Amino acid sequence: MRRYSAFAIAREAARYHTGWERAWRSPQPKAEYDAIIVGAGGHGLATAYYLAKNHGITNVAVVEKGWLGGGNTGRNTTIIRSNYLQPSSMAVFEKSRSLYEDLSQQLNYNIMFSPRGVLMLAQTEHEKRAWERTWHANRIAGIESELVTPERIKEIVPIIETGGPRYPVLGGLWQPRGGTARHDAVAWGYARAASAMGVDIIQQCEVTGVDRDADGVTGIQTTKGAIRTKKLCIVVAGNSGVLADMAGFRLPVESVALQALVSEPIKPCMDCVVMANTVHGYMSQSDKGEMVIGGGADGFNNYTQRGSFQHIEETVRALIETFPMISRLKMLRQWGGIVDMTGDRSPIIGTTPVPGVFINCGWGTGGFKAIPGSGWATAEMVADGAPRALAAPFSLDRFTEGRMIDESVAAAVAH
Ligand SMILES: Cc1cc2nc3c(=O)[nH]c(=O)nc-3n(C[C@H](O)[C@H](O)[C@H](O)COP(=O)(O)OP(=O)(O)OC[C@H]3O[C@@H](n4cnc5c(N)ncnc54)[C@H](O)[C@@H]3O)c2cc1C
Repeated sequence: MRRYSAFAIAREAARYHTGWERAWRSPQPKAEYDAIIVGAGGHGLATAYYLAKNHGITNVAVVEKGWLGGGNTGRNTTIIRSNYLQPSSMAVFEKSRSLYEDLSQQLNYNIMFSPRGVLMLAQTEHEKRAWERTWHANRIAGIESELVTPERIKEIVPIIETGGPRYPVLGGLWQPRGGTARHDAVAWGYARAASAMGVDIIQQCEVTGVDRDADGVTGIQTTKGAIRTKKLCIVVAGNSGVLADMAGFRLPVESVALQALVSEPIKPCMDCVVMANTVHGYMSQSDKGEMVIGGGADGFNNYTQRGSFQHIEETVRALIETFPMISRLKMLRQWGGIVDMTGDRSPIIGTTPVPGVFINCGWGTGGFKAIPGSGWATAEMVADGAPRALAAPFSLDRFTEGRMIDESVAAAVAH
């Protein structure tokens, strides 16, 4: 793989950009791999990359039914933060946030990480107390976050209305090194770097069955034929229940659509991310100038990767109370992704009842920020056959043992 650099751009400019090579290879599947990852979203691709980079395991395939990054990884609102409540969540999200800091250099691919700061508003007394509790937990864990007053919030976000009639802004939790990154670029960067190390990324190849014998997994059936493997890692977000069913076990996960929308582009007016959990909406401004707005998940299970009218109405109505200026914006487009929700709103990274089958799912509405840390921890598990410290608390058996990692209160909008 040729390095991307200022020199490379100059060289290609001089020859009318005819010399760029494809960012990743598109091979036909081999008969057998040491490990197969199902799902070329950010988590699957990061797992493949760290398997190759950290563990030297390169005879790996990432099998994707559509195009890489076409699932939730390419549909999210790109919020990155690590100020969660529970120690195990803080550990994996902070690992991730810190990996994001120099991911562009590591991958030699500009993922446009922008640590512009994430502000979570407190608009009820209850929420204010919840953020105080999270702030204390963050301090104990050594995670940088700050409690801020309404006056400070007005300085950080001048377009905000802090004295709203129903839900005045009473304070907030501010993580200055949180922010955003370009979601597609994260998938593309991991894909390119993994492919360069020998990982086969096989797109347009749907997994239709999992083969097993008495000792465990033996391979998969796909629309491009059967492939053998002794290690299978399922990383398919909203389709996790479907894949688990093929492998012969059940997951405590529900799939629902989560939606987002963007406005027409306007001049720069907000240089951080604001989450208003009580009114249920959050907003940032993209580099193009669009206001990127996220809402809540559907209240019923479904596999619809589309938006719906009532969500636009609910989300925009909620946000207008806190940002009156958006009432004059035209909304440009909306979309949805299928998110995989667990009861405690924490992910599952672990072994499964089928020997050789590993699972990474349950990131729900907030897994974009976790991609590097999750890939790191999942690669450790696939390489060793068992999770190490970062992933161990997120095992599947926590639901039968009652060891919940409750993040539902800590993150009402859960991003
Ligand atoms: C609207 C929206 C906003 C969000 N906002 C944020 C946010 O601001 N911050 C944040 O941290 N997170 C956010 N998220 C959540 C985040 O996007 C996800 O948690 C994360 O992208 C999950 O990544 P993944 O790699 O696990 O799954 P995905 O990116 O969904 O990848 C899974 C892949 O598996 C493939 N697949 C499925 N079935 C099969 C099969 N049978 N065979 C082969 N391949 C298969 C799919 O095609 C897909 O490409 C948001 C999600 C949505 C939908």
